[in-house]
Amino acid sequence: MCIFCKIVNKDIPAHIIYEDESVLAILDISQTTIGHTLIIPKEHTENFLDCPKEILNKVTSVSQAIGNKIMSNLGAQGMNIIANVNEIAGQTIMHFHLHLIPRYDSNDGISISMRSADNIDLENIKNKIIKD
Ligand code: 5GP
Ligand code: ZN
Repeated sequence: MCIFCKIVNKDIPAHIIYEDESVLAILDISQTTIGHTLIIPKEHTENFLDCPKEILNKVTSVSQAIGNKIMSNLGAQGMNIIANVNEIAGQTIMHFHLHLIPRYDSNDGISISMRSADNIDLENIKNKIIKD
């Protein structure tokens, strides 16, 4: 059984922020920034992309509610909401979860940078993505 299934089953303790019949929200043990929270479906599914739509809808709905509570109660100025999919993207626990990482200032412990590529054929990429 994976570690998040164990947390869902209360075999491993966690700081639970919210719980209902299908979703659990807990503090991430790493606390990348203060209030770093994980929104986890109770049913085991590997990642965002293979999560059944009805479960995904519940996860995103709880994420929005908890995200707003974190913003107002911890005085965050912004938030990174992240789903890592597979090891290449940094996923370490293969049980779907969304990270809510509140942002306080530019030196708050997280930095996300995205490069801009040159000379890319956007039309070609678009056509590849939309083909059946
Ligand atoms: P991933 O890298 O898979 O997107 O994120 C996994 C997250 O789970 C990490 O941020 C890590 O700190 C957190 N984590 C790992 N083990 C535990 C645990 O036992 N309890 C809690 N609350 N968080 C955990
Ligand atoms: Zn699991």
